[in-house]
Amino acid sequence: MTSYTAPVKDMQFLLHDVLQVTKSDVAGYADLDESFTAAVLTEAGKVATDVLAPLNAVGDKVGCVLENGVVRTPPGFKAAFETMKTGGWTALDCDPAFGGQGLPHLMGTAVGEIFVSANMAFNMYQGLTHGAYSAIRTHGSAEQKATYLPKLVACDWTGTMNLTEPHCGTDLGLMRTRAEPQADGSYKIAGTKIFISAGEHDLAENIIHLVLAKAPGGGEGTKGISLFIVPKFLVNEGGSLGARNAVTVGKVEEKMGIHGNATCVMNYDGATGWLLGDLHKGMKAMFTMMNEARLGVGLQGYAVAEAAYQNARSYARDRLQGRDVTGAKNPNGPADPLIVHPDIRRSLMDQKSFVEGARAFTFWAASLIDRSVRSGDDAAEGLVSLLIPVLKGFQTDRGFDMAVQAQQVWGGHGYIEDNGVSQFVRDARIAQIYEGANGVQALDLVGRKLAQDGGKHVMAFFDLVKTFIKENEADAALKTDFLDPLKKASKDVQAAAMFFMQNAMKTPNAALAGSYDFMLMMGHTCLGLMWAQMAKAAYASMASGDADFLTAKLATGRYYMARQLPATAMHLARIESGADPVMALPAEAF
Ligand SMILES: Cc1cc2nc3c(=O)[nH]c(=O)nc-3n(C[C@H](O)[C@H](O)[C@H](O)COP(=O)(O)OP(=O)(O)OC[C@H]3O[C@@H](n4cnc5c(N)ncnc54)[C@H](O)[C@@H]3O)c2cc1C
Repeated sequence: MTSYTAPVKDMQFLLHDVLQVTKSDVAGYADLDESFTAAVLTEAGKVATDVLAPLNAVGDKVGCVLENGVVRTPPGFKAAFETMKTGGWTALDCDPAFGGQGLPHLMGTAVGEIFVSANMAFNMYQGLTHGAYSAIRTHGSAEQKATYLPKLVACDWTGTMNLTEPHCGTDLGLMRTRAEPQADGSYKIAGTKIFISAGEHDLAENIIHLVLAKAPGGGEGTKGISLFIVPKFLVNEGGSLGARNAVTVGKVEEKMGIHGNATCVMNYDGATGWLLGDLHKGMKAMFTMMNEARLGVGLQGYAVAEAAYQNARSYARDRLQGRDVTGAKNPNGPADPLIVHPDIRRSLMDQKSFVEGARAFTFWAASLIDRSVRSGDDAAEGLVSLLIPVLKGFQTDRGFDMAVQAQQVWGGHGYIEDNGVSQFVRDARIAQIYEGANGVQALDLVGRKLAQDGGKHVMAFFDLVKTFIKENEADAALKTDFLDPLKKASKDVQAAAMFFMQNAMKTPNAALAGSYDFMLMMGHTCLGLMWAQMAKAAYASMASGDADFLTAKLATGRYYMARQLPATAMHLARIESGADPVMALPAEAF
């Protein structure tokens, strides 16, 4: 069976050596001293290792079962959910006004990684609840906040997001679910939503569905869409639970992975709902939460890869096959461990350098969200909105690749189900699809985010990279191994952006055909920037810190710069080949 240990030391390095949180002017960061964050992360690690990780395989094997309209989660999930609630883990970064602990989103993100690595499917019940909490907190009336937020923060009630319909996934303008206004100010919601994560289950006494639907007078396409609160049980004045609402689960989907999370068809048969935010502005309301939600999915990409990597690393140390070509390392045994072989090392280095780089990128993005929300910093908000499609698309695609690489280290023993490794591959796959499929993230990046506010945010990103390089160029060790490769990658990305600017107006397909490559080259460059920053911090701490740990950090960073970052040149060449090679065949020739 697989195992998991929280990477507390790596997280502490990011929080204190790289981001230097206690020196930050963001509200609440000064309180995040080393002993406090170590205590929180270590405790979260214990819950992850002792409670959540042992349920990962159970969730995968047993899955969720629908019987007589009730969905049963896998054995042990209910008790584990209670542990999360009583430990206050569901309330960590929520507003104290509603029972939360008020910690920055950065801490919620670090702890979230630990829980997702241990059991992604389980953590989704709480993750979606946090999404509903954020939507109601941002767009709800005072009464809605008072009614729903304390219950969602405590996870006594859980939340869902209902966008998708059978004929309407990416293109939400095709939505058919209707909302008819009633005399008392409520709406009657009618329609079918599919693929709704945590749509029905037995972990909470009520489920608060946030449902996108079309109300009269809004016009065609996405403009007419509004967002509604539709509780499973209606809530009486005073907060007690009332009648069952007309929303039922039609089916629990059989699927490739995350079996422990109930993916439901939800039928709304004139269910009572209340408008959340402004009428016909539902898409805007959804979009304000998307940075947080997409960061959460991008996190799933590397968090599952981290768990897979940990298990590949232990297997590579234990499994005896072949001999080291430079001389036996286990001369008294029948063979050497896999880890002596350079190709296994390559695979482990790919995994390690990706996971640690992606963690740094995600923590940085979470800190930008804190800066924008807590300090009202528009530049931070602009930067994070540019980078979120990169973080989501790049990290989930690479995260899946790394889970496959980890499985490959196990050879055939990773493919059969006995050892639990194939679950990482199956679970990681969905993160590439939901919360906007990755091809669509790339379109969002190139079609919307690059030109947003006159291209101000992408220019700010290029400036940030340039300034970091300039400020540190005098450091010879940093320059050769880290800054020069970063400069080259950044130039490739700028050349690609220039190609889009020069060609997109007259040949829109030239930009669209290159959008996916652009997302990947941006991702590599972000991780290159993260590794350069981590290298700077590692050199700075070398005299006082754990030299073995810091030396390993530097070697891992050098690997990324030498072996991964040069991919930007290939992506640039693809982009500059334009749309012709992609669109050469007529549709009927496929
Ligand atoms: C396990 C699971 C859980 C989910 N949870 C939820 C949930 O909780 N709530 C919810 O509302 N939904 C949920 N979803 C739905 C998910 O968000 C959608 O499946 C996803 O957004 C893609 O929509 P689709 O499947 O209809 O694909 P489509 O929109 O049909 O897209 C198919 C493919 O075409 C590509 N594509 C589409 N349009 C374009 C374009 N204009 N240009 C280029 N490429 C394009 C896409 O990238 C994709 O690769 C879940 C799905 C699954 C499988």
